[in-house]
Amino acid sequence: MNALPDSVNRVWVSAGALKANYRLVRSLLPPDTPLLAMVKADGYGHGMADAATAFAAAGCRHFGVAELLEAVRLREAGIDGEIVVMDGLWPGQEEYFPRHSLSAAVFFVDSARLLSAAGQSCGRRVPVHIKVDCGMTRLGIRPEDTLTFVQAIGQLPGIEVAGLFAHFPEADSPEKPSNRQVCDNFAQVRAALAEARTTMPQLSPRCHLANSGAIFNLPMAHGDMARSGIALYGCAPGHAVIGGAALQPAMRFVSRVLQVKDVPAGRGVSYGHTFVTTRPSRLAVLPVGYEDGYQRALSNKASVLISGRRAPIVGRICMNLCMADVTGIAEVSTGDEVVLIGRQGNEWVSADELAAQAGTISYELLCMIGNNNQREMLS
Ligand SMILES: *Cc1c(COP(=O)(O)O)cnc(C)c1O
Repeated sequence: MNALPDSVNRVWVSAGALKANYRLVRSLLPPDTPLLAMVKADGYGHGMADAATAFAAAGCRHFGVAELLEAVRLREAGIDGEIVVMDGLWPGQEEYFPRHSLSAAVFFVDSARLLSAAGQSCGRRVPVHIKVDCGMTRLGIRPEDTLTFVQAIGQLPGIEVAGLFAHFPEADSPEKPSNRQVCDNFAQVRAALAEARTTMPQLSPRCHLANSGAIFNLPMAHGDMARSGIALYGCAPGHAVIGGAALQPAMRFVSRVLQVKDVPAGRGVSYGHTFVTTRPSRLAVLPVGYEDGYQRALSNKASVLISGRRAPIVGRICMNLCMADVTGIAEVSTGDEVVLIGRQGNEWVSADELAAQAGTISYELLCMIGNNNQREMLS
């Protein structure tokens, strides 16, 4: 007997799908353009170390996380190659970077100085990637400050300017005018770099801009490296299919039927009785709820798969329970597998479908489900 019993609700992650997606996204870039795998948020809910290990097996040598703790955990899990901490560092954290061979995004001259001192005391240069805000209006320096910034940090002895990067706000919608604007601003950043190189010719940072959306939609923005997250987990911006090969959703979320009950017409179901049966109905009670990331916003909207058929969720989703209408689905009984995300027989529920029903995006849904359930990697 194991020390702990298994949870009834399980998230299964396919390493094969992660590897196939990495190879597919990689194939969209020129052969010498590295693809950085974003593994923040515990690998978008797929498990940071396991996801990074799968991407590494497919050839990945660059990884991105949000904060230092994640980067150190990734090293401790045995991940080699570059790990970029996208939110940079807080004063006092600088020593971790040379010690664990980590790279930092920088947007303050002072943090570059701290890293340089820490690098020097270890006899190393800490790679830094300068973060420029080219239209996202989020983290980063202004494009017009690039030259001054590069000049201020370019000669520091304990760092190496390894990258110069920006982020798109709307690359999943290629028709949006902001895409052109971001590219124009990034061209201004590259021009500033070229100017800085007249006095500091040793500088040769990788200029990178593309996220998944831009990799698929904006080939002119591929740059010297690209950073992909969502596509690697199998949710393409706009369900992209390339050359007949589709991205493979890597996450499957399953539960089991806890109880089956027959109720007459006119019966209110769950808190608030937001659903009332219109016919004699058979309901399956499922031991899954918003605590498991199966959001309350999905009440009366989502469908699950039981016996290879779609069954609508009826009534409010509770903290740990919800009901599916299985009227007309033959032979449903306690213990039957229920698929909340993934395939069963010929039917399919995608993270994108659920996200649309919940009024959110696949990213958030994957994090909430993946990071709130017992998770296991399959080969
Ligand atoms: C999360 C993130 C990405 C990846 O975006 P996707 O849309 O998931 O491909 C790329 N760059 C930065 C800076 C990010 O924060």
